[in-house]
Amino acid sequence: MEEKQLVSSFCLCARIMPLNLYLCPMQILDGKIASQAVKEKLKSTVAHLVAEGKRPPHLAVIIVGNNGASETYVASKVKNCAEIGFGSTLIRLDNDVPESVLLQQIETLNNDPAIDGILVQLPLPKHISEPKVIETISADKDVDGFHPVSVGKLVQGLPTFVPATPYGIMLMLEYYQISTKGKHAVIIGRSNIVGRPMSILLSSSHAYGNCTVTVCHSHTPNLKEFCLQADILVAALGKPEFVTADMVKPGAIVIDVGITRVADATAAKGFKIKGDVAFEQVAPLTTAITPVPGGVGLMTIAGLLQNTLQAYLNKFN
Ligand code: NAD
Repeated sequence: MEEKQLVSSFCLCARIMPLNLYLCPMQILDGKIASQAVKEKLKSTVAHLVAEGKRPPHLAVIIVGNNGASETYVASKVKNCAEIGFGSTLIRLDNDVPESVLLQQIETLNNDPAIDGILVQLPLPKHISEPKVIETISADKDVDGFHPVSVGKLVQGLPTFVPATPYGIMLMLEYYQISTKGKHAVIIGRSNIVGRPMSILLSSSHAYGNCTVTVCHSHTPNLKEFCLQADILVAALGKPEFVTADMVKPGAIVIDVGITRVADATAAKGFKIKGDVAFEQVAPLTTAITPVPGGVGLMTIAGLLQNTLQAYLNKFN
């Protein structure tokens, strides 16, 4: 926790308050620092396992096709495994691979005792059923936490694999010791991989839970009114810079999950990564905020690595 940084310890909030000024401390929730702390612990756990003569945990990643963003995510997952001493196997399949071949590949990995976790990078080509793929992955190796068994256990508060992004956000809240108890959390987005599990985690009875949660989505009328009530605002809708200053309560904690590639001719890669929050105008209003890039994305990998270690430990305990 020594590395924890209080960036820009005091900033002027633009909103008109009783004294026409609202001073609030604003903390950047830095995914690089928080994920590094998680990875250091994992690295040391692996070192101990290996010192005892045991094999390290091993993650298998399947990528179908050559979607640019998916390539980046998969490369990062493999690199992070190497950094902490996990083994990894990357399996590439063509964009037009028959669904049956992908399912057979998953079965092979399910039956391989040397593989602890299996991840199929989403999205998949249209001819492949994502639910079928997710259900084919053995629940014991479901390190993405998308299998119905994992989701069911999460809802019931049982130990399970928590979807990596919401898990990463919880690890972030824990690292920065953000108090959540009794707070009103508003989540924009209800997807199975982010919004829905996030709502379950924040409303559950545990440290960094115990919130009153409102889930908003594309059919929510008066979204702004809900957002303005949020002590904790989680933006996970995939619309760049959607959340603007007029939607944020002064002093709120803002978690920006969004990652969208926005074309930008001035950028070396031809695009820039944008979050769902208009950071420049929103950050000064907040008590704490995650940047994009450098926030939740890095924590997602930390969550995935934690799940992979858990899958390994479950096997031997
Ligand atoms: P999704 O498209 O599956 O779901 C989007 C959700 O937002 C839906 O529930 C929809 O109802 C809601 N929504 C859409 N427009 C809305 C509007 N105008 N008002 C209110 N709600 C609206 O997306 P997803 O998979 O949950 O991802 C959301 C974003 O998070 C994307 O940008 C994605 O790239 C990003 N993401 C980031 C990470 C990470 O590691 N940081 C991981 C997963 C997803």
